[in-house]
Amino acid sequence: MVHVRVMIIFDKQDMSIKKGGLFRPPYFPLSGQISVDSLEHILSNATYGADPIVGKILEGYTRLDPSVGITNCRVILVSAYGTQVLLHPSSPFVLIWLFLPLSIIRGLPVKYNADRKPGGVNLLLVTGGAGYIGSHVVLGLLDQGREVLVIDNLSRGHRELAGKAVFEEADIRDLSQTGKIFRKYPIDGVLHFAALSLVEDSMSDPHSYFRNNIGGTMNIITSMLESDIDRIVFSSSAAVYGEPRALPVKEEAPKIPTNPYGETKLFIESMLRRSFEAYGTRSVSLRYFNAAGADPLCRTGEDHSPETHLIPIALDVVMGRKEELKIFGNDYPTHDGTCVRDYVHVADLADAHIRALEGMEKGTLACEAFNLGNGKGFSVLEIVSAVRSVTGIGFPLRFAPRRAGDPAVLVASSDRAERELSWKRRYKDMDEIIETAWKWHQKRFRPRRRY
Ligand code: UDP
Repeated sequence: MVHVRVMIIFDKQDMSIKKGGLFRPPYFPLSGQISVDSLEHILSNATYGADPIVGKILEGYTRLDPSVGITNCRVILVSAYGTQVLLHPSSPFVLIWLFLPLSIIRGLPVKYNADRKPGGVNLLLVTGGAGYIGSHVVLGLLDQGREVLVIDNLSRGHRELAGKAVFEEADIRDLSQTGKIFRKYPIDGVLHFAALSLVEDSMSDPHSYFRNNIGGTMNIITSMLESDIDRIVFSSSAAVYGEPRALPVKEEAPKIPTNPYGETKLFIESMLRRSFEAYGTRSVSLRYFNAAGADPLCRTGEDHSPETHLIPIALDVVMGRKEELKIFGNDYPTHDGTCVRDYVHVADLADAHIRALEGMEKGTLACEAFNLGNGKGFSVLEIVSAVRSVTGIGFPLRFAPRRAGDPAVLVASSDRAERELSWKRRYKDMDEIIETAWKWHQKRFRPRRRY
């Protein structure tokens, strides 16, 4: 008896398991909720030792049973003794793999639009796809029907946030690991989020930032060049500008980062520009201001440890997970003395990434950088009052000294992104942004006390 590990990612619409040449009735709609029990039932009938993991992904071991076929799934990953084969419905192997003896499975080449023909199915690699912004982009890509492979070292991310993307735990600091991923999967393009991103942390431990962010990106670019992959969307930051001299900040503003985190992002942008000039590697760098909110369907959201960002900390205080909100500084030259920031909804950010990718695919974008913001500034006190009005709960706060390195005001001009990416923000209203964050926060972190 041969045991083969299978991972099946079913279509959004439906799935079916064929046994003895007959479809098992009925089709099981997977667009809504489906219980683990019913999946186990289906699988046990189909001779699977079921081990459903996340939503629509099933993973388990099966004997090679020639009477079982699987249809309407998006990807099948078959692995045995270190060999993995990723199959797509466009592959002729998809319906027959279970009939193949192991020796043949072992010898199969990866059949996954390997010739990368236009209009074919593309596999996109999302590094850091189990993190806050990366996981929203993964969802956006999957919602479009794209095939997604996530790599993440799970140092900050959470496996389940990568949803039903194919997942590999890998560390971009290790070139042998990135090389292995690029050799194993026929990747068509990269969206690169894996990085350390805390400003204060980068001041006390800059080397980690150079090693993770710059070293890790060097490994990604090396592997891309080796595999002849020529498009990457890069998660950059407003931190490349440092203290802005004019507002709103435009892309051509001076770039004088004031901390190692911003320096790493700026250096990577310059690496990407040089790679384009020398090797034709296309790239779009997206400079975010303050990402906020959560997936409107609550499938993913913010979950940092430690949490340092204003909105999730305020929600933590609302839920009793923290005692009070400290407001860092009330003597800034702003209308109410607290810092002003540009909060942009994370789903809008995800949309901009997909547009950037599409621009490179269509050939309209080659090597670009765009600001992504809401175009409007909100002070810390305005955020506090929005959190109070959305949650309906007052909470304790205290003024504390300024936080090192915080500029008084950061507001982006996103005119270029609107023009060249046709980017339109769906979320302009702060209450709406906070509502999505609040919904996620309640789902993710159960309150300790009742209200
Ligand atoms: N902030 C605050 N208290 C907190 C966290 C943040 O007053 O507990 C302020 C911070 O000083 C900044 C704004 O909220 O002015 C946004 O900070 P955040 O860390 O969310 O994002 P950043 O602008 O640093 O990227």
